Amino acid sequence: MTHQTSQLFAQLGISHDPRFTTTGLPPDRVHACKSAVDGSTIATIALDDAASYDATIARSHAAFLNWREVPAPQRGLLVRAIGDEFRTHKDALGRLLSLEVGKILQEGWGEVQETIDIADFAVGLSRQLYGLTMPSERESHRLMEQWHPLGPIGVISAFNFPNAVWAWNSMLAAVCGDTTVWKPSLLAPLTAIASNAIAQRVSERMGYKDLFTLVIGSDANVGERMVADRRLPLISATGSCRMGKRVGEVVANRLGRCLLELGGNNAAIVDQHADLALAIPAIVFGAAGTAGQRCTTTRRLIVHESIADDVCTRLVSAYKQVHARIGNPLEDGTLVGPLINARSGEGFDHAIAHAKTQGGQVLIGGSRVAVKGCENGIYVQPTIIRAPKSNQLAISREETFAPILYVFTFKSLDEAIAMNNGVDQGLSSSIFTDSMRHAELFLSGSGSDCGIANVNAGTSGAEIGGAFGGEKDTGGGRESGSDSWKAYMRRQTNTVHFGKTLKLAQGIRFD
Ligand code: NAD
Repeated sequence: MTHQTSQLFAQLGISHDPRFTTTGLPPDRVHACKSAVDGSTIATIALDDAASYDATIARSHAAFLNWREVPAPQRGLLVRAIGDEFRTHKDALGRLLSLEVGKILQEGWGEVQETIDIADFAVGLSRQLYGLTMPSERESHRLMEQWHPLGPIGVISAFNFPNAVWAWNSMLAAVCGDTTVWKPSLLAPLTAIASNAIAQRVSERMGYKDLFTLVIGSDANVGERMVADRRLPLISATGSCRMGKRVGEVVANRLGRCLLELGGNNAAIVDQHADLALAIPAIVFGAAGTAGQRCTTTRRLIVHESIADDVCTRLVSAYKQVHARIGNPLEDGTLVGPLINARSGEGFDHAIAHAKTQGGQVLIGGSRVAVKGCENGIYVQPTIIRAPKSNQLAISREETFAPILYVFTFKSLDEAIAMNNGVDQGLSSSIFTDSMRHAELFLSGSGSDCGIANVNAGTSGAEIGGAFGGEKDTGGGRESGSDSWKAYMRRQTNTVHFGKTLKLAQGIRFD
């Protein structure tokens, strides 16, 4: 482990995690963790095999049998203490996260803040896991629903939110009476080791072991095993549509439950009534922030033809300022850090080459950037590509996980909404307008078909209070706020008869 990594772990109060002992292990059980900042190896960790995987699930299941008996408000107290521990360690954890996946520090800290926020939300929820009561059609009968703990929850997370996505799941799962088994991405295991250790040490302090467990390994050895495991009644998986299709199929085959949070291809509409002073910075953050590596990144811009040239000119000028601040994400003032790895860089190059051959015009960007001191990191210029007059640009139908914004034009709002909806994914969407009619049409049942639809706010940067997720190939799952907690519990309908004569439903007589 490098000095920088071990210092961060020490600041997090984690000195001897067994994951860091790799001596004597066969090579296929040892993983070199890379920093996206400069491509260097920052730690070496032990991976799970079939036996250690099985043992972890067994421990998680045993912990569940105990945890489900603890009253929900008491479970909330534990989650409150975990949230406080993340508050205390926000700085160091945000730094570790940024070092590992290359988010700028502001975003690293912002992600840990999301974990703190969802813990707060879950604490409140621990007193609000309400069931309904319904009027029974039979006299002297009570009809009601209760929500019970579900079991150990399998959480599979993507590299780009290596802390918050686990927290969205595990903090809710914990107050619902479930334990969590987390399989992080092999591109971001260090943040997972640290986050899980923080949650686990708080629970051990409060007398509960194994509420939060980790399995780390390849998709073939650990991921596939987990998805097929009947001991995990719910698999909550975040990642690409390709992964979701596979996970969905395997879990459906064992009639388990899936919560899928998959890729997006998000559009922002800018109509002729938009306040551009507000729209431009929101679009720039949505498209270039996190180097285009958010599921909610703005990838398509749909602009009214009367203002398209003006919008493009303003965006190009804003992008010039952003280009001047591409660099080491751990340094002050950087706005755009690296892509996660070389494969992402190839995806960026490939998309730009395709866009050009399909008639797209690069307005700004399109190139790699060399960052001093980070020569092995993959840095690229946030890029704007204007679609040809035909508005056809096949490459824009794919989610390229990089900062590329494709610009299209429209004449009527119906046409803009059809373009917004005209891709396979359905995660996030926005309209920038001062027209109340346009805003309401966009939010109506015949408007945006996405799980998230915003007015005068960008596609990225959701708050935890709302349910988060998307439709179509984005998978249909909902996580985080609102009533997303219901996915982590099993619903039971109860009929209680307190009369003396048996009464059958539907008026049936059987005497
Ligand atoms: P990915 O699909 O490559 O990997 C995601 C996770 O799935 C990893 O932990 C990976 O190991 C695991 N995985 C892959 N195949 C598996 C299998 N067969 N069985 C079990 N596990 C398997 O995605 P990524 O590159 O890490 O992340 C980027 C993608 O995630 C983008 O498409 C992005 O839009 C999406 N994402 C979606 C959301 C959302 O909430 N909708 C949030 C973040 C990221």
